[in-house]
Amino acid sequence: MASPTASNDIEFLSNHNIVEIVLNKSTNQKLLRSLIRFNRGDIVATFSAKSVVDTPNYLTVQVDHNKHIELSPDFLQYTNHSCSPNVFYNTSTMQLIAIEEIKVGDEICFFYPSTEIDMAQPFICGCGSHCCLKEIKGAMHLDSEVLKKYKLSDFVRNQLSIQ
Ligand SMILES: [Zn+2]
Repeated sequence: MASPTASNDIEFLSNHNIVEIVLNKSTNQKLLRSLIRFNRGDIVATFSAKSVVDTPNYLTVQVDHNKHIELSPDFLQYTNHSCSPNVFYNTSTMQLIAIEEIKVGDEICFFYPSTEIDMAQPFICGCGSHCCLKEIKGAMHLDSEVLKKYKLSDFVRNQLSIQ
C-alpha cells in the first residue's frame, strides 16, 4: 500500500519500538508504520495467540481448520491488507517475516489470503497496487495462477493443494 504523502493526514497514536500505529485521517484507518529498516527475509516480530477461536473474525489469523488466533502483541492487529505485501505471517513458525525491503516509514501490510481460506468479512481492496485483486474474500476464491505469485501459509497451501 502506498504511504500517504501528506503528513498532516496522519495522526500518531502509539509507539511499539519496531513499529508505530498511526491514523490515516483521510481514510479513518489505523495502520502500522515501520520505525526501522528490514531486509527481505528478516524477522519483523514473533507472535503468539492471545486467544484461539473456531470461527474467523476481522481480527483473527487462520492457523488451521476451525482454528483462528487473535494476535499477540496487540499492535499486530493493525497490519492491513495489501495485494503487494511486504510481510508474511508464517503461522508454522509464528514469525512475521519481511518479504520485501521495508524502509523507515513504510506501511507494514500482508496479503490476507496468505493465511485466510474463506474470510468472515470480504471487502473491496483499495491498496492501489498495480496488481490489486479488488475483491478480497480468501484464498479459496482466488485462481491458482494468482495464488502462485504469493507466499502462502503451509495451511493454505495444503488446503488448496498448491506446491
Ligand atoms: Zn489491492
